[in-house]
Formats: sequence, C-alpha cells, structure tokens
Amino acid sequence: MSKPVVAIVGRPNVGKSTIFNRMVGERMAIVEDKPGVTRDRLYGQGEWLNRTFHVIDTGGIDIVDEPLQDQMRMQAEIAIEEADIIIFIVNGRDGITSSDQDVASILQRSKKPVVIGVNKVDNPDMQEHIYDFYQFGFGQPFPISGSHGIGIGDMLDEVFANFPVNEEDEEDDGVIDIAVIGRPNVGKSTLVNSVLGEERVITSNIAGTTRDAIDSYFEQDGQEYRIIDTAGMRKRGKVYENTEKYSVLRAMRALERADVVLVVVDGEEGIIEQDKKIAGYAHESGRAVIIVVNKWDAVEKDDRTMKEYTDKVRETFAYLSYAPIQFVSAKTNQRVQKLLPIVNEVVDSHKMRMPTHVINDVIMDAVARNPAPTSGTKRLRINYATQVATGPPTFVVFVNDPELFHFSYRRYLENQLREAFTFVGTPIRILARKKN
Ligand code: GDP
Ligand code: GDP
Repeated sequence: MSKPVVAIVGRPNVGKSTIFNRMVGERMAIVEDKPGVTRDRLYGQGEWLNRTFHVIDTGGIDIVDEPLQDQMRMQAEIAIEEADIIIFIVNGRDGITSSDQDVASILQRSKKPVVIGVNKVDNPDMQEHIYDFYQFGFGQPFPISGSHGIGIGDMLDEVFANFPVNEEDEEDDGVIDIAVIGRPNVGKSTLVNSVLGEERVITSNIAGTTRDAIDSYFEQDGQEYRIIDTAGMRKRGKVYENTEKYSVLRAMRALERADVVLVVVDGEEGIIEQDKKIAGYAHESGRAVIIVVNKWDAVEKDDRTMKEYTDKVRETFAYLSYAPIQFVSAKTNQRVQKLLPIVNEVVDSHKMRMPTHVINDVIMDAVARNPAPTSGTKRLRINYATQVATGPPTFVVFVNDPELFHFSYRRYLENQLREAFTFVGTPIRILARKKN
C-alpha cells in the first residue's frame, strides 16, 4: 500500500501551516541535506509511529484571482480529490464561524474520512472549546495546539486508525514502473503516447479511483513495463487549471509507485522554477531519474546547442548530476526509442547490490588516499562500510562519531563509489552510524 495522503484544510489563520510544519518539520531535515533542493510549503512527508505519510497543506495552494470564499472551497475540493483522509482545522478560540461552516459542508458531502482538530487550545482549561465542533458530524474533535505541539499525536492516532498497516508493501513483481512527471505542457502525454506507439501495449486503462494516474502496460524483449502518465488526469475542471502547483502533487503520487522517473522539461521554452521543484522531488524520492529534454525538434540548433543545453541542465539541477539526459521529440518520435535502454540501465543501477568486501575495499581505499579533514581536534574515523539496501543503493559507514561525517566528505565517498561501480541514474545514500 502506498503511503496515505493527509490533507490539511480550514479557513485562513486557523493554524494550518503551523500544524503542517509540526508534522513535516523534523522529517524534512533528515531526508535531505543537499543544498539547492527547492521546497515549498504545500507538500511534505510526515512520520508518526514509524509510519510515513504525505501531507498537503491546502492553505499553501495559491488560487489567484478568486474571492477568498471560492479559494477555500477549491482547496477543500482538492483535498477531497487528492487525499485519503482530511484533517479539518478550526480555531477553538473563535468557535464556529460561517467560513468553517462552508468548509464543513463541502467535506460532509464527500465520502472521505475527516478528523477535526480544534487548534489554539494551548492549555487544558480551554478544552471545553471543542464541544461545539461535534455538530459537524465528523466524530470526536481533537483539541490541539500547533504552536505548542500539544495533542497532535492523539489526532494522528485517529488519522492512522483509518489506515490499517498493510504487510505486503512494495513487493517486486518484475515489472519496471516508469513515472513521467513534469509541469503542464512539457509534452508528457505526447511522450507516453510516443513510447506506447512503438511498443506492444498490453493494457491501457484508467484505474478505478480518481486519484490514480493512467497506467499502461507494455512489453519489450520479454520485459514488462508500466508507464504512469501523470498528465492523463489533468483538464478536469477549474480547480486544476487554477493550480499549476498542483501538478507537483500528482507527480509525488506517481513517484511513489515508480522505479524510474522521467523528468520531462521543455527544450523549446527552457527550464523554469516549477521544473526545479519537480526535479527536486524526483531526486528526494530516491528513485532512478532520467532527464528528458523534449520538443527538441522545435529548437533551432547548431552543433553546440545540445552541449549548451546539457550544461544548463547540469547547472540548474546540480543535485541530479547522476541522471542521464536524453534529448527527444515526442512529437516526431525522434530518439524516443533510445529511452527504454536507458531505463533498463538506470533500473539495474538502482537495484545493484555489491558484496560487502568489495564495498569495504573501495571505501577503505578512498579513506587511505584522502582521510577526512579534522574538525577542531577531532577527526572522523571510518571502520567499516556495508550496503544495507537497494533502490536506491544505500550504504552505512560505521564511524567514531557520526557528527563528524560532513557533507563534503560524504560527497567524496559517493564519488568514489560511483567511480568504482557504474551507478547510472540512481541516487546513492550514505549514512553514518556510530560504531559500538
Ligand atoms: P494558516 O493560515 O491556517 O496556515 O495559519 P498559520 O499556521 O499561519 O497560523 C496563523 C496564526 O495563528 C499564526 O500567527 C500562528 O502563530 C498562530 N497559531 C498557530 N497555531 C497556534 C496555536 O496552537 N496557538 C496559538 N495561540 N496560536 C497559534
Ligand atoms: P503535458 O501537459 O506535459 O502532457 O503536455 P502534452 O503532451 O499535452 O503537450 C503539450 C503541447 O506540446 C501539445 O501541444 C503538444 O503537441 C506539444 N508537444 C509535445 N511534445 C512535443 C514535441 O516533441 N515537439 C513539439 N514541437 N511539440 C510538442
């Protein structure tokens, strides 16, 4: 089962973003320490009792040029559409307002479970503020304080009561799952059609629920692939058109189910801020990544153009330095047939497992050649290294003090591993653990 998606809704100023930050704050810090990855407030990952979940702060969705009332309505609709469960935040100090009522009535019409958090209940004397909120019919309201971090755990217990733990996570069915992501109009749908046009399509269907993208299965040389078209569900009305950012959510969903991600950019228009965000999420997801520069037919070129564009992509997506870049035209099918061999290659790297003694040799050699710099009076010492996971390849180095394992040295070891083994298109994670 994929991670549950939890959406936070409520009128402005009730404390949604404060609560969002509580839920994702620490986790964000742990997941990514590489500079240059763009984030926004809209979307994050949380963790509660060893279960991770996606969180959407619908208050972070800008819906421009709409009256406040309509914005709230659209945010609630997006939450209903996207989320598995909705946390409805109200302000205990204000009691029920007409805006709360509006939001509640939209939520009541949906079939999604709703947990209600009565925020700004900063101390126990204020508990009585919650009783009014029973009348919405969402069950027991939970008194919380976003700014003091009170009550959020109990509320999350209730959220997860709706999600029984599913044991059969992530089983490998041998199918290579490809997600195609990118901002609107870069040519994702056209690319998917182009890939499918050349292959033997097994099925192409819209999965039952609205939250799913369109999945198509096809086969080449005995390997089965599933391609997840995140654009397929687009154009479903005003809410979507109004929220460009929204494609990020769609992308995140697809990432979760993928082995490899095609990050599509528009060669004709160039790279814009939103591309950076999407690429950042692709990187953070830990999936194998290929950067696809589409619409290459429409670019006026000379013999330097591809090199210049490559340099620009490398500079803009510095954290994706491991990702191969493929220039294609989805419209004319040019070079599209080259994508699958690259997909196979990056998936191999993503799943690669090396014997421990080989890893150790590489790491210990690297350390001997270039010991970690001292930090004050202390120096990092590495005793031992091993691979602990694949997809992406994840290594643990056992050290005297994990605090001394700095970004630059991690980067050095990563480069050494990449030189020793051919890890194409996959991120590599290196974690430091204290040797006992
Ligand atoms: P949003 O518009 O719903 O995202 O609300 P914010 O998270 O931006 O919070 C609005 C204001 O309420 C800010 O000034 C917060 O500091 C404040 N706030 C948030 N949570 C609490 C809380 O639990 N108690 C109190 N007293 N203030 C809070
Ligand atoms: P999506 O929103 O990312 O799925 O983008 P679409 O596949 O709907 O394509 C958006 C627009 O770009 C359409 O008008 C396509 O015909 C056009 N387009 C897509 N791929 C190419 C391409 O390789 N070259 C050119 N010139 N146009 C393309």
